[in-house]
Amino acid sequence: MDFEKCLENYAELTVKVGLNVQPGETVWINTSLHQPEFVRLVVRKAYEAGAKLVQVEWVDDEVTRLRYKLAPEDSFAEYPQWRADAITKVAAEGGAYLLIESRDPDLLSGTAPSRTTAFQKAAGAALAKWREYTFTDRATWSIIAAPSVAWAEKVFPELKGEAAVRALWEAIFRATRADQEDPVAAWKAHNGALNERIEQLNAKQFKKLHYRAPGTKLTVALPDRHIWSGGKSANAKGNDFNANVPTEEVFISPHREGTEGYVTSTKPLSYNGNLIENFTLTFEKGRVVDFKAEKGYESLKALIELDEGSHYLGEAALVQHNSPISNSNLIFFNTLFDENASNHLAIGRAFSSSVEGGADLSPQELAALGLNESLTHVDFMIGSAEMDIDGELADGTLEPVFRSGNWALI
Ligand code: ZN
Repeated sequence: MDFEKCLENYAELTVKVGLNVQPGETVWINTSLHQPEFVRLVVRKAYEAGAKLVQVEWVDDEVTRLRYKLAPEDSFAEYPQWRADAITKVAAEGGAYLLIESRDPDLLSGTAPSRTTAFQKAAGAALAKWREYTFTDRATWSIIAAPSVAWAEKVFPELKGEAAVRALWEAIFRATRADQEDPVAAWKAHNGALNERIEQLNAKQFKKLHYRAPGTKLTVALPDRHIWSGGKSANAKGNDFNANVPTEEVFISPHREGTEGYVTSTKPLSYNGNLIENFTLTFEKGRVVDFKAEKGYESLKALIELDEGSHYLGEAALVQHNSPISNSNLIFFNTLFDENASNHLAIGRAFSSSVEGGADLSPQELAALGLNESLTHVDFMIGSAEMDIDGELADGTLEPVFRSGNWALI
């Protein structure tokens, strides 16, 4: 693997496939300080693609940690409105938003959940308008990742410092196909393959999905006239982009009231800089009525009790166990990667794209069709080589969708 070439490919992929930057667009980049050279490479490629302004918002993990440790308690209920206004304006004017994740999965461990919860709520309210643009894919947004030492050492505990960072870069290159000769062409083929799955699932119109695995016996009802998504999206201007690089999933929002049974996580979840591990949720009529966790119970409680909508599911996604990220056998402690190695669900807000014509419906109309509303949307992983899923057709017959963790749908 030629490291420099892969780094260049990854920057190219970010600008051409993730954001698909068009001449005259503004690009807003939120990134930490860990990989400034890579960020500069992305900036250069964005200008070469015709961007009129690439605005980089640098954040620093230590500064974030200091805020959560030292800022006054009541300050977390306030979100800087000027920041919300800025990114909302960029979205409204057809600009793109890029998040480069590098976070230490344990960044905020030990922080009182009252602080992270207050921040979540304040951010959720202040960014409501911006979320409307991004959650409906009207504005281009994309999430990619670049290593930090703390994150890399968590993924590769046997390595230290630069060696760990290098190993994580290589894992990212493989997971994102940046190690391939022509990654842009590879993504075109990959988006096409995901689209075939989507068409197959849309044609089936399963009423329910039945999940079975150790620690899991769950039924998830799907909304009427639902639409699966995955791979690329099109923004309001009709330009394609990939909101997640990597992405291996096809996904849908379940019917808010239609989840019954229990489900157990199969990978750690990093939520607000805290790890939640080996947890089980129990649902009745769609609502979480009980939960337990071997580790991170307080964080899980804060997540579920954030608002009423965070007691319900907003996403069910299918990813087969035999996939590039899963086959790496790594736990990334980062949802962007771990969710793409595993079947997963999300607590919180549903996607309006999950129902026919959803982008043009009001929040009330979406709710009437069974789509959940919440300030949050947090994916958690439930897939394994031991998971079977059946799809229930309108007439009640069951068809295998997954067997032993892999696609079985014909
Ligand atoms: Zn997902």
